[in-house]
Amino acid sequence: MRTRPWRSVALVVMAVAALVGIGGVASGLWSVLWGGQTTAIQGLAEEVPWDQAIVVPSVAPRPTPSAAPTFDLAQHSTSDPGSPWVIVNKQHPVARDHEPPDLVDVDGVRVRAAVEPDLRAMVEAAGGQGARLVVRSGYRSYAEQTDARAAIEARRGFAHAERYSARPGFSEHQTGLAVDIDSGSDPSCNLQTCFTRTAEGAWLSEHAWEFGFVVRYTEQNTGVTGYSPEGWHLRWVGRELTAHLHQNGIGSLEEAFGVSGGAEYVAG
Ligand SMILES: [Zn+2]
Repeated sequence: MRTRPWRSVALVVMAVAALVGIGGVASGLWSVLWGGQTTAIQGLAEEVPWDQAIVVPSVAPRPTPSAAPTFDLAQHSTSDPGSPWVIVNKQHPVARDHEPPDLVDVDGVRVRAAVEPDLRAMVEAAGGQGARLVVRSGYRSYAEQTDARAAIEARRGFAHAERYSARPGFSEHQTGLAVDIDSGSDPSCNLQTCFTRTAEGAWLSEHAWEFGFVVRYTEQNTGVTGYSPEGWHLRWVGRELTAHLHQNGIGSLEEAFGVSGGAEYVAG
């Protein structure tokens, strides 16, 4: 039998062609299937932020968030009378001629503009829960505080006035950030110790902080503030700070900021 080497060559070529052909079909199918899938994955991936979709082991791990982020007590001044966090007490007076620039009227009482929304919201919320808060007074100028203090002194004597009423120049009312609240349910307790036992006094001691106010003078903080308890005297500092005080059980502005206070008036 004569050998025909070209046929062997042709067979090899055909075999290769066949394989390539099948491979081509397979490759086509592959690209259709896999290509489609790749597109779908890319579609999903587009909705994931790139830095979360890609794991880069060399990047330092993010710091673990602390349970309670540190509250920044330095955001506002405690000595500037225009600051929402100003501390006014017997050690820290307000300049005689200080007058807030943005006083607004709320039911016949003047307060700084920032106080108004929280004051209105608080009165409304209390009313819905059976506590009839009546806003009695707000901003008092130096001259008005002079008159108010003199009236209390004339009626109740110097010692009483020292415990309940600031000397002119030492009153939070001059900042436009303080208000006195009367009881709508029992007016006989207005400006009296028994105010805390009225529906209004009880509501305020529990809820005033939710509206950015602190009951400034309490039984617990008398030594620090230098005033006898006044459940009716509220000081606005904003909801951020009152939430901080509430969450940490801090009973006075003096303690929160480490500012001096007490019953003694600063010399001079
Ligand atoms: Zn007051």
